[in-house]
Amino acid sequence: MAIRLDGRQLAGLIEQRLAAVVGARQAAVGRPPGLAVLRVGDDPASGVYVANKEKACGRVGIHSLGSHLPATTSAAEVRATIERLNADPAVDGILLQLPLPAGLEAAPLLLAMDPEKDADGLHTLNLGRLLKGEPGPRSCTPAGVMALLDHQGVELAGRRAVVVGRSILVGQPMALMLQAADATVTVAHSRTRDLEALCRQADVLVVAAGRPRMIGAEHVQPGAVVVDVGIHRKPEGGLCGDVRFEEVEPLAAAITPVPGGVGPMTVTMLLVNTLVAWCRRHGLDHGLADLVV
Ligand code: NDP
Repeated sequence: MAIRLDGRQLAGLIEQRLAAVVGARQAAVGRPPGLAVLRVGDDPASGVYVANKEKACGRVGIHSLGSHLPATTSAAEVRATIERLNADPAVDGILLQLPLPAGLEAAPLLLAMDPEKDADGLHTLNLGRLLKGEPGPRSCTPAGVMALLDHQGVELAGRRAVVVGRSILVGQPMALMLQAADATVTVAHSRTRDLEALCRQADVLVVAAGRPRMIGAEHVQPGAVVVDVGIHRKPEGGLCGDVRFEEVEPLAAAITPVPGGVGPMTVTMLLVNTLVAWCRRHGLDHGLADLVV
């Protein structure tokens, strides 16, 4: 039976460290770290995600400066809000909650963000920094996966990793991070042929296809580590991932559950990015180097 890569537990441990960092440095800085979560429109899932992020900020002592703009807001107005947050000295991190309402394009708005305040690591400059191995805020979901693998002591150097999905949000940065950790990485996507055979070569299989329960026992080599990034609401209630957990768990060496695997780690890495930015702006050591990939 596989070891469970428990993201909820690890997120709790990291939050304790983050709260200690805030406590130890706040007097020197003179203010708490600030994260501005910018939500536009009323996507219901986003409402839950934003509330979770704000609660997590509260637990570690990050000041949450949310803005919720109506769905009718123009791109120019959203941009003006981002520019105001860029200039606000109390804001260390900005997050533009996606998806945006129809008619608003994410790319130019992400580009309007100060790259040093880009808490989600999605600014073009920060994706370029990841590609080049330069420091900068990293995309939260793949960074959370790396923290989970590291915490479990999963060896990556020289091992074969397969990432299913090539989105800018998850698949691509995930592949770059695994490669930076010296894994030999293959990226699969919707046009990949014989996905089963490819996945069965993986020592570490990360699935971010956004297809409920598409990966089963036939895709998994016995003893592989399986990370399920997918999150889906089941029609009968509850959540499931991209992996058929009950089929894969008996085969795998380790596996992330859904919920309670990658999801909580994504939120935690957002807090990490915000704290690192706060410390950098004030020339303080953040003491979180093991979490910065
Ligand atoms: P996208 O829809 O942007 O990307 C999905 C990727 O999977 C695409 O590259 C697509 O290929 C590929 N894909 C789709 N179907 C198949 C298939 N049958 N075989 C192989 N590859 C396939 O999704 P995201 O990357 O944004 O998210 C992926 C999942 O992760 C979603 O379920 C999302 O909800 C979840 N998620 C979870 C987070 C968390 O915190 N746990 C955070 C972010 C996302 P192609 O490029 O060819 O279209």
